Amino acid sequence: MHIAFIGLGNMGAPMARNLLKARHTLTVFDLNAQALAALREAGASGADSPRQAAAEADIVITMLPAAAHVRGVYTGENGVLAGVRPGVPLVDSSTIDPATVRELAALAARQGNPFADAPVSGGTGGAQAGTLTFMVGAEAALFERLQPVLSGMGRNVVRCGDTGTGQVAKICNNLILGISMIGVSEAMALGARLGIDTTVLAGIVNTSTGRCWSSDTYNPYPGVIDTAPAARGYSGGFGAELMLKDLGLANDAARAVRQPLFLGALAQQLYQAMCQRGDGQLDFSGVIRQYLDADGGTA
Ligand code: NAD
Repeated sequence: MHIAFIGLGNMGAPMARNLLKARHTLTVFDLNAQALAALREAGASGADSPRQAAAEADIVITMLPAAAHVRGVYTGENGVLAGVRPGVPLVDSSTIDPATVRELAALAARQGNPFADAPVSGGTGGAQAGTLTFMVGAEAALFERLQPVLSGMGRNVVRCGDTGTGQVAKICNNLILGISMIGVSEAMALGARLGIDTTVLAGIVNTSTGRCWSSDTYNPYPGVIDTAPAARGYSGGFGAELMLKDLGLANDAARAVRQPLFLGALAQQLYQAMCQRGDGQLDFSGVIRQYLDADGGTA
């Protein structure tokens, strides 16, 4: 299949490479000339604009930072909608707000292009390994068409409902993750302060009702899990800036429907404070530092 892939960053580049490995023909575009050149070397054709990339494609996939970039890439003068043939499905895998997705889907529908949102979880490791989870918002028939292509980049490809619901799933999952990481941070720091060995505490939590991914796989307390970012000064992993972005999307979406997010709002402020201190590139589990001394002990 001939695929147009736009947005070759930390996630998009390895995803595009996996599509090449799955023997698809790719035309790619990115504002960053180096990113474009790297994919050309890997076997893709380069385009000068989203419009040109989309012109011959049987499917268009975008993986961009935020809603403003997605809107520009689809609706700009040299955007996807200006170049794509009618009937060709458009898939945005960026993490953006459901309202923008539905607005773009309505624009695309007017010229006969079905639109799906397909945000991912699994991070850059999952993008490289081709093991991402795709949360797809699409009509059932469109989902059937997309599934074989998305399976070339992910292990779990799940239909969440109609267009927009993929982003709803993504936002709700990351709302839980952002809050649970703060809960585990608070409890681990309190336990240390009250004198328990933190490895023993983590062991108890992980066989008790406090257990969650933030405690048993990604525990934020240094020295508890060798493979977690806490073991390497919170480098790598899922940046606090990205968590802050996702919590912003959750809080904005909640405001639009007058749904209270008591903990979501507080969590957003804690990651915002982390980013303000200059730690936005650190893994989000570094949020525990707000409870610890600089040397890693309790405050
Ligand atoms: P990134 O910043 O590394 O890459 C974005 C790419 O888009 C860059 O190469 C940039 O040059 C390109 N770009 C920006 N504007 C453009 C335009 N107008 N036209 C063409 N290209 C343009 O971001 P990323 O980490 O790859 O994340 C992409 C999306 O995936 C984001 O929405 C993010 O929230 C989401 N996401 C990221 C992760 C992660 O761990 N990095 C995990 C899950 C979801």
